[in-house]
Amino acid sequence: MINPATGSVLTSVPGMGLEETDAAIERAHKAFESWRTVAPGDRARLLRRFAAVVDAHLDELADLEVRNSGHTIGNAKWEAGNVRDVLDYYAGAPERLSGRQIPVAGGIDITVHEPLGVVGVIVPWNFPMPIAGWGFVPALAAGNTVVLKPAELTPLTALLLGELALEAGLPEGVFTVVPGKGSVVGQRFVTHPAVRKVCFTGSTDVGKAIMAGAADQVKRVTLELGGKSANIVFADADLEKAAASTPSSVFDNAGQDCCARSRLLIQDSVYDEFLALLEPAVRAFRVEDPSRPTAEMGPLISAAQRRSVSAYVDDADVAFRGTSPDGPGWWFSPTVLLARSTDDRHWREEVFGPVLSVLPFRDEQDAVRLANDTEYGLSGSLWTRDVGRALRVSRAVETGALSVNSHSSVRYWTPFGGMKQSGLGRELGPDALLSFTDVKNVFIATED
Ligand code: NAD
Repeated sequence: MINPATGSVLTSVPGMGLEETDAAIERAHKAFESWRTVAPGDRARLLRRFAAVVDAHLDELADLEVRNSGHTIGNAKWEAGNVRDVLDYYAGAPERLSGRQIPVAGGIDITVHEPLGVVGVIVPWNFPMPIAGWGFVPALAAGNTVVLKPAELTPLTALLLGELALEAGLPEGVFTVVPGKGSVVGQRFVTHPAVRKVCFTGSTDVGKAIMAGAADQVKRVTLELGGKSANIVFADADLEKAAASTPSSVFDNAGQDCCARSRLLIQDSVYDEFLALLEPAVRAFRVEDPSRPTAEMGPLISAAQRRSVSAYVDDADVAFRGTSPDGPGWWFSPTVLLARSTDDRHWREEVFGPVLSVLPFRDEQDAVRLANDTEYGLSGSLWTRDVGRALRVSRAVETGALSVNSHSSVRYWTPFGGMKQSGLGRELGPDALLSFTDVKNVFIATED
């Protein structure tokens, strides 16, 4: 593991091989027999205790994420707190996982939500803690056991969460972290018959391969994939507010965010005015040592990621850039590019770095057309003071999570996930729990 802010080696974590992965899956399979029968109130209590233990280790988890992933300390504390909050939220679920009673002739009909068995959660490197939690927490609450594979570059907080689960009293085998390669551990989650669902967050290409592989055993999947989300600014918007919040909507986490609003669409009548407001906000965006409380952005995750991001900027029209530290570490300054057309690679592809592409639009119809001209559909924002337009455009833009006059995407109370090639299924919110269960229908005859 390398600290991306300094380039220095932190530690190394041996990846699990096939045999160790199989052993972890089999332990989880065995643990499922008893975990599913734990009384709902007791399962709820264990999850609440897990939340309390995470809370007691919040600073430790956050510091580890700053060093392993280069996240700003402010973000890392939020991320550890998010794991705690998601545990508390779904701790309410085991006692509320009700089925239905359906009127039928000749008897009583009830439905129950059965857990699936072992759930495999595969996590990317960009948000190691929250994305892990969005998968493993509802899975456990619904009565499944979990094997979780963190990304190769960022396994440290997941490994600590695995230890904290045991400290909280979760039985051995209920939640196991299995570090290792995607092609070994992750792939085994797809092929091992005891794993009944794969909850994957990562790139669209790997997601497609997982979906194809899962078909063989009709394995359930949730897929949270890439994004190329639009931030649409209409001329009637509060332009100052929209411009002030635009840098964090795309440069937060150094742009390594599937929800990054990496395409900025500005109505042509305010195009110059808006860019003039945006420029000082971008230049003032604080890119510095992520352990400083003032940091708004840290480095990219790796040298390879920096090479990949740089390639998008090399021959593009740069409008303006922010600043970043010199010296060791994988730093990259926030960059605003003017798209020449919608064919530009930086306009079409997920850059996954602090790069914003800008295009003007004519009217509402044009804005919707441009926003939807992508295979992705994860997130997005629109800025207007016209309520009717806000509602019309919200309905017309093909994405799973949209915010009006703000840039929020993920709130643990509400559903999160993608349309089109950004994903399949929804995480978080009241319904995610059910996607870790199968509905069973039971008819009980009452006639003699
Ligand atoms: P990635 O697809 O390369 O890897 C994601 C995870 O999958 C890693 O743990 C990796 O080891 C594993 N993996 C790789 N090959 C595998 C295989 N053949 N079988 C099983 N597992 C395999 O993605 P990444 O580069 O780590 O993450 C960046 C991508 O994740 C971006 O495209 C981003 O948009 C996406 N992402 C999406 C969301 C969302 O919620 N929609 C959130 C965060 C990141």
